[in-house]
Amino acid sequence: MNARAQLLRVLLPVLLVLIAAAGLSAQGGLIQGGLKTALYTGLTQGGLKTALYTGLTQGGLKTALYMQQQPPAGGFDFPDEEDDAPTWTDDLRAQALDLALVSAFLVLAFVSFFRKSVKLKYVTLVAAVAFLGVSKSLLISIVNVFGLLGGNLPIFRPNLAWYLLAVVTLVSTILWGRVYCGRICAFGAFTQLVDAVVPDRFKWNVPRALEMRASWIKYGILGAVLAYFVVTRDPLIYPYVEPFWMFGLHLRTPVLLGMLGTLLIASIFVRNLYCRFLCPLGAFLGVLSSVTTVFRIKRWSECSTCKICQKACEWGAIDGPRIIKSECVRCDDCERLYDDTKKCPHHLILIRKADILARRGPIATG
Ligand code: SF4
Ligand code: SF4
Repeated sequence: MNARAQLLRVLLPVLLVLIAAAGLSAQGGLIQGGLKTALYTGLTQGGLKTALYTGLTQGGLKTALYMQQQPPAGGFDFPDEEDDAPTWTDDLRAQALDLALVSAFLVLAFVSFFRKSVKLKYVTLVAAVAFLGVSKSLLISIVNVFGLLGGNLPIFRPNLAWYLLAVVTLVSTILWGRVYCGRICAFGAFTQLVDAVVPDRFKWNVPRALEMRASWIKYGILGAVLAYFVVTRDPLIYPYVEPFWMFGLHLRTPVLLGMLGTLLIASIFVRNLYCRFLCPLGAFLGVLSSVTTVFRIKRWSECSTCKICQKACEWGAIDGPRIIKSECVRCDDCERLYDDTKKCPHHLILIRKADILARRGPIATG
């Protein structure tokens, strides 16, 4: 087992303990109530947009504080919950369109994945940005990781589309690796599209040794953000480590906008900068896929000397004969090369051998 795999295996239990502690901490926060809790609740109940409807950022901090502290004149007038409680049918009807659209998007994503079609992949990336990002702000967040492993999951019935996305993310990561990162995450899709339109002459190819080292930064951020949450119970750290809020642009503080602008500009010059080096959720999915991936990418015996795939991989996920599962986002670029009988030495060698045998003619027997 190589050094990285060994280290990941050591890190995994530590991360799980941190994450479980973070989840328990989050539960404590929910019981205590307060503004931060309101945001956390929103985040775990269906994505970033929901969080913004909790009042924390929608009306500004002062408004949210005032609303928390000042009951309206005449006291609170809550509706009779028993009479107005929505039925399953009501919930399903209200979410039917969302469910259908998210399902259709996921079908598109997996058809493009299984068919290894470049065209379909880019259609999926555009759909991820436009639909999951701009229209729905439906992304899996590091805050959901606190909730997931702490047993503090969103309320099920009002958040069916979020559950569909979360379950597909988890199951697909276990089966194939970081498919979520490769074609479902709206921010990852956005940076891949930026990369596709920026001419190569503007891009800085991070030297291999630096790339390998820098890919560890995201694991450091994941550990740090979980430790921070365990200690402080403050989920408001998330916009400082995740730019996903940009799809709603709700958190417009000068510092955050400055950080976002810097990241987006840097992403023009360094491909997949955030995903490769900085994303704590990508790190979490990377740790998960490095220990679970069931269906791995095949390798030929020739892969140990041939570097064509390694050079083609834009994620720094190939190291000689080995696929680094924690970094691979199942983009298919290397798999298309494996299947290319004109480029992959495995096929070229087989074809040459067949030629030689054919030229020798049939071997006389008897
Ligand atoms: S690494 Fe992070 S930002 Fe990139 S695709 Fe994965 S979850 Fe999204
Ligand atoms: S080129 Fe291959 S190893 Fe690299 S990210 Fe894509 S699928 Fe994974």
